[in-house]
Amino acid sequence: MRNNIQKIEEDIKKHSPHPEKVRLVAVTKYVGVEEMTEVVSAGISILGENRVQVLKDKKEKFDQTDLGSEIRWHFIGNLQKNKVKYISDYIEMVHSVNKLSLAREIDKRAEASERVIDILLEINIAGEESKEGYQLEELYRDLPEILKLKNIRVNGLMTMAPFSDDVELVRGVFKRLREIKDELNSEYFNGELKELSMGMSGDYKIALEEGATLIRIGSKIFS
Ligand SMILES: *Cc1c(COP(=O)(O)O)cnc(C)c1O
Repeated sequence: MRNNIQKIEEDIKKHSPHPEKVRLVAVTKYVGVEEMTEVVSAGISILGENRVQVLKDKKEKFDQTDLGSEIRWHFIGNLQKNKVKYISDYIEMVHSVNKLSLAREIDKRAEASERVIDILLEINIAGEESKEGYQLEELYRDLPEILKLKNIRVNGLMTMAPFSDDVELVRGVFKRLREIKDELNSEYFNGELKELSMGMSGDYKIALEEGATLIRIGSKIFS
């Protein structure tokens, strides 16, 4: 595992135009607390999970150890509104905001916890039916309302590329996400969108080349 992490860190230096801005999210959905402890001990503090109940259970276990306070939890999966309350006290970032109603719920729960929660807007660039995420028209429709919410901070964008061997197809998706970020920054956000969460085990090098700042990697770390 340490070798895998080291390889990924080398790839960040090699493939990113701005390696100092890139953070690795260790996606721990496949593994248990033991492997997670090893990752945190290896210096990776951001852990990503895609199921609320699992995240909550794992956090409770870590909170009983010395490592509990070192971990920063990121939520990366499809988040149901009625589950936001279980993570809103401590979640550092939600990568997968794809509906106004969800943004409103996170805002409401953040306010109750006296916090501002960092979020990313998830965009379905390739228009795949099977994937979550905003279509662009929907996003532009919801943005004025999202911008009114005071207890969420929109930090950037997230996408998942199609599973494909076609490098140029995948690259095009990542490039498009960067262009959308630039458009939104000049039209709405005044440069406040900093993050591009893109790239998984199979495609993170391409994502890095296209400007990823958060790469979400699971199997490549734990295999
Ligand atoms: C599982 C998952 C990942 C990590 O996938 P790997 O291919 O194992 O690196 C990244 N992002 C999301 C949203 C995921 O659900």
